[in-house]
Amino acid sequence: AGRPEVTAPGRYADRFGGQLVLVTGAGGGIGRATALAFAEAGARVLAVDRDTEAAARTAEEARRRGAAAAWAETADVSGEQAMERLAERVTRVYGVVDVLVNNAGVGLGGSFFDTTPEDWKKVLDVNLWGVIHGCRLFGRRMTERGQGGHIVNVASAAAFQPSRALPAYSTSKAAVLMLSECLRAELAGQGIGVTAICPGFVNTGITSTARFAGTDAEEERRLRKRAARLYRLRNYPPEKVAAAVLRAVVRDEAVVPVTPEARGAYALSRWMPGALRR
Ligand code: ADP
Repeated sequence: AGRPEVTAPGRYADRFGGQLVLVTGAGGGIGRATALAFAEAGARVLAVDRDTEAAARTAEEARRRGAAAAWAETADVSGEQAMERLAERVTRVYGVVDVLVNNAGVGLGGSFFDTTPEDWKKVLDVNLWGVIHGCRLFGRRMTERGQGGHIVNVASAAAFQPSRALPAYSTSKAAVLMLSECLRAELAGQGIGVTAICPGFVNTGITSTARFAGTDAEEERRLRKRAARLYRLRNYPPEKVAAAVLRAVVRDEAVVPVTPEARGAYALSRWMPGALRR
């Protein structure tokens, strides 16, 4: 917010011409930037968000940025029936999705013992089940069509970086990372790629919307301010994550840590597991 949106350098100009790209959580942050980057690459863009107006704003901007076409759909990715309805409608009206970006997610901070079962359920419902529903419903249609495709799941550096401050969020993202790698193995023979994108600190709305378990209003305000400051300090724009998403699809990359700290954490986690506790 407040910062002008960076326009992609046009490196993938028309690279996605004619392709149908669906992005969940496209109303803001990484999802919005990703939808717009695909628009600039000539795709037909479907912006999905539970926030109807935010999705519509992204679709409008996507048209302005050169999308072959752009539409907005409202859906909460955590609902199985809602996602079934979405998949049916999308297939009927727009066709089989060529690139699916499961991006919708929610943040949750707080220690393990401050995190209630309801907190766990909310985070896992969106961050993990949202991805499962997307992969099942849209992935199935890709396999049935038999013309390949690509699924991008937005995980996080938290997936391989243990933290006492984010147990539920990190667990949900670790599950998304493993799910992506398993599905990648399963779909390898069918020309369908699967990528896990793992961003570190990226400047988006997630710090303002994330909830903090077990804190009073004052403490929450303090934590929110601290997180926002850290994100500002790193100042990594969502447009660069979006560029990594497009590159990962073009190159069919498996796991892509994005941001310097995510790349460092990923490398370290592979030869010194557990060394990254913070
Ligand atoms: P990020 O840093 O992941 O980009 P943001 O909070 O900026 O985070 O954007 C996340 C987007 O995902 C928002 O537009 C939000 O409305 C959307 N979103 C969150 N939960 C859901 C959900 N259950 N279903 C669909 N969209 C969702």
